[in-house]
Amino acid sequence: MHTFGDMAEIVDNIPEFSPVQDIDAEDAAELLMNFDKSGLVHTIWTFKTPYICTICNCNNAECMLFHLKDRYKSLTIVRKGHEIASVTRDTCNGCGDCQNSCPFNAITVHGGKAVISEECYGCGICRNFCTAGAIRLMPKL
Ligand code: SF4
Ligand code: SF4
Repeated sequence: MHTFGDMAEIVDNIPEFSPVQDIDAEDAAELLMNFDKSGLVHTIWTFKTPYICTICNCNNAECMLFHLKDRYKSLTIVRKGHEIASVTRDTCNGCGDCQNSCPFNAITVHGGKAVISEECYGCGICRNFCTAGAIRLMPKL
C-alpha cells in the first residue's frame, strides 16, 4: 500500500502498518511495475475525489474492496478505469493465460481467441500475462 499526505501521517501511528517506509516517486513507480507483473490490481483511494490518499495493490482473495464489490453488487464500491483491455485477434493464440489472470472474470476464450467482456475494469493485469503481446489497454469509446 502506498499512502500520501495526511494518510501517510496517520498510518505511521498504526502499529499494524509499522514499520512505515518513506520512498521517493521513482521507487514507488518501480514497485508498482513489479506489483503489476505479479498480478496485483492497483486501486486509487480518495478521501474526496480528486484528493488521492492511497494507491493499494491487492488480489481478489485478500482484498476487502473486491469482497464488498462482489457482495453488494448494486452499490458502486469500485469504479472502473478510463481504459479497457483490447485483444489483437491475429496475435492471440488462444492459450487462456489472460483468462486465468483476470481478477474480474472479464475474459473468456471463444474459437481460439480471447474475448473481453464489459466487466473489464481496465486494470491491465491480463496484459502482463499474455506472452504473445496480444493485449493492450485502449481508451473507452
Ligand atoms: S494470453 Fe494472450 S495469447 Fe493467450 S489467450 Fe490471452 S490474449 Fe490470447
Ligand atoms: S484489464 Fe480487464 S480483462 Fe484485463 S485483467 Fe483487468 S479487468 Fe480483466
